[in-house]
Amino acid sequence: MNYSGIKYTDMINGEGIRVSLFVSGCSHYCKDCFNSDTWDPNYGSPFTEDIENEILNYFKKYDKSIKGLSLLGGDPTYLTNIDPLVAFIKRFKESFPKKDIWIWSGFTWEVIIKNPKLLSLIELCDVLVDGQFHIEEKDLNLKWRGSKNQRVINIKKSLELKETIKYID
Ligand code: SF4
Repeated sequence: MNYSGIKYTDMINGEGIRVSLFVSGCSHYCKDCFNSDTWDPNYGSPFTEDIENEILNYFKKYDKSIKGLSLLGGDPTYLTNIDPLVAFIKRFKESFPKKDIWIWSGFTWEVIIKNPKLLSLIELCDVLVDGQFHIEEKDLNLKWRGSKNQRVINIKKSLELKETIKYID
């Protein structure tokens, strides 16, 4: 898996102060995508163990002030990103079980829950921003997403209650 960047002390992508990892690879090709360079899974640099350690060390250093980890892209649920992210999240949770994890996917919740591979990654996270970006529904006032079709979903509650529970409207 490659990644295009890491934002330490990110206050835009999710609630609170976060560390955001932008991975490469996306198969959705949304019209007017804000980040089309990252469609290519080879864009950026390899996500190595050293980079994982760098993120974990940052959390150790600023444990009290960082609320959680955000995974964006590209698309973290791009096929070849799933296994490396599952492995990294498991490692992350061992050290920081109380930090929340937000993830963005071009797939909708309904598609994800029917696909065991996608679900293996999503079920490790707390909040999902789902669906492709639709330029026709673009709305700059929305929090954490670009278009009205996208939803901010509470993953744990949605799985528990077997219905789509939004984190915010
Ligand atoms: S899912 Fe996201 S990264 Fe992929 S094409 Fe759509 S807006 Fe761009």
